[in-house]
Amino acid sequence: MLAVVVFACKEEKTKSDTAQSQNTADLIVTNAKVAVMDDNRTIAQAIAVKDGKILRTGTSEEILKLKGENTKSINAKGKTIIPGLNDSHLHLTRGGRFFNAELRWDGVRTLKRALEMLKEQAERTPDGQWVRVIGGWSPFQFEEKRFPTPEEINEATGDVPTYVLFLYSRAWLNQAGLDALKIDENTKAPEGSTFEKDSNGKLTGVLLAEPNPSILYARIGALPPLSQEAMVNGTKHFYRELNSFGITSGIDAGGGGHKFPKDYIGTKVLAEEGEMPIRLSYYLFPQNKGKEYEEFQEWMSNNNVGHNGEIHLDHGYELEGGGEFLAWSAGDFENFLAPQPLLKDRPTWRQDLKKILTLHAENGWPFRIHATYGETISNMLEVIEEVNKETNGKLTANRWMFDHAETVKEEDLKRIKNLNGGIAVQARMAYAGEFFVERYGADKAKHAPPIKKMMAEGIPVGAGTDGTRVASYNPWPALYWMVTGKTVGDFQLTESSARLTREEALHLYTKGSAWVSKEEDVKGTLENGMYADFAILSEDYFTIPEKQINSLESVLTVVGGNVVYGSDDYEKMNPPLPQVTPDWSPVKYYGGYQKYNQFNNKLK
Ligand SMILES: [Zn+2]
Repeated sequence: MLAVVVFACKEEKTKSDTAQSQNTADLIVTNAKVAVMDDNRTIAQAIAVKDGKILRTGTSEEILKLKGENTKSINAKGKTIIPGLNDSHLHLTRGGRFFNAELRWDGVRTLKRALEMLKEQAERTPDGQWVRVIGGWSPFQFEEKRFPTPEEINEATGDVPTYVLFLYSRAWLNQAGLDALKIDENTKAPEGSTFEKDSNGKLTGVLLAEPNPSILYARIGALPPLSQEAMVNGTKHFYRELNSFGITSGIDAGGGGHKFPKDYIGTKVLAEEGEMPIRLSYYLFPQNKGKEYEEFQEWMSNNNVGHNGEIHLDHGYELEGGGEFLAWSAGDFENFLAPQPLLKDRPTWRQDLKKILTLHAENGWPFRIHATYGETISNMLEVIEEVNKETNGKLTANRWMFDHAETVKEEDLKRIKNLNGGIAVQARMAYAGEFFVERYGADKAKHAPPIKKMMAEGIPVGAGTDGTRVASYNPWPALYWMVTGKTVGDFQLTESSARLTREEALHLYTKGSAWVSKEEDVKGTLENGMYADFAILSEDYFTIPEKQINSLESVLTVVGGNVVYGSDDYEKMNPPLPQVTPDWSPVKYYGGYQKYNQFNNKLK
């Protein structure tokens, strides 16, 4: 009898426990300024999370009611919470692969300091390895507002081979680097590029893309690789670095010198081990000029788009489609220090692109396509319209977009809209805008890219950086650029009508970017049922002086309800990370982006 009663009571108790647990949250965050970023731009005080998704937002009082025995609770101490940032054009998998080998000048404020870092790194670099700075900086971020000279680089690095890249415009090899790569006065530069010589005909060590960047790519490819262990370790540290800025998602645009699947090993290992701290979607970028069609055929026969979600997180490591390059002959390199490349000078671009787009249509693959200039986009739209017609709309039945579009023409925005296309914009002008103005004039820079006009046309727009080479991967200088129209050198580019409000910029960097991987219905806001991806910010993005937007960071980042990063008051919640390898890695000594304390301007 007792047993029955006890069982009944037990049953009763478990029934109420389950009911109770069903109504309780796994995690609550209270005492915050929560920017839900729904259409009404609701500001709440607290968030409740269940099963990795937003259960509810509301007042702290309301949310505390969802606290159960096992509910984890975090006090945001009045800080601002935003939906997790999503960089919709970032070379993540390649960035992780090389992270531990590269010295980053991202965020460095003086050339003096940059050269000091170069010198220190040369002193700890072992034989057989190189000092390498691979993009992500602008000479205008330095107080000195200038490039380093070959002499300064040689003086800092001595006989340690060194390669310093500025965007895809130019690079510096020190003498030891020239020797190691057996480059001398007789070495021929690829067409459209130059090995710079001084007045005596001697190599200076400067490599110029004019605009063909293969002279720059080839050297990166020639540098000694890291071990697989170091690539996996570097990927973990790079993704943690991204989490430290509040990034919870990223969409990979492939990139040169980065073969799929071989070179994606760092990220693949993390995904298979269930350790992805970022939701990552990727597009595939053909590596061999003239062989792109065959590469896509092989990928399409061996891979399905949108089907990697089950590995770990919903949509955790997912193949999306083709791009950002589809055909190399149609690539217009964004080097504003050199003349604009014109497709009409490339005899085969049209049929190359048409063949590959038709293949995408036939296989139902979404695509994204790199295009900097309006002239390129006008030309490409002719081919997209043609293939779409010939395939009875199959081409644009899937997601497709242009990347970059700095000088897209207004009339072409309508054509993109009519073809259900989107545009992913990045802060490249923040790193090269001064050179753009020098070449194309201030007027043309006032609306480059014309983001407001894209939005007014109703085109889906995603935002990002195009890191890690043609811009830094830090999202905040990109948001600063969208809001103020200024470069990282504080040079004014856009006119006031072209600037975004802070909310508009944040919207593009969250829900706007989610469109690029067909995930706008599962993330990008903190509405009920959305993925519990969010960040507590170091300062209030919506009210701080504009200048301080640049140095914003996250103090707590959450993906799918799990804490993936914590600092300051939340340091204890920061998940453990293995020691940086190899031992001489610059990341071990400097980390990644050089963060300064915004109150005393001292390096953190
Ligand atoms: Zn690109």
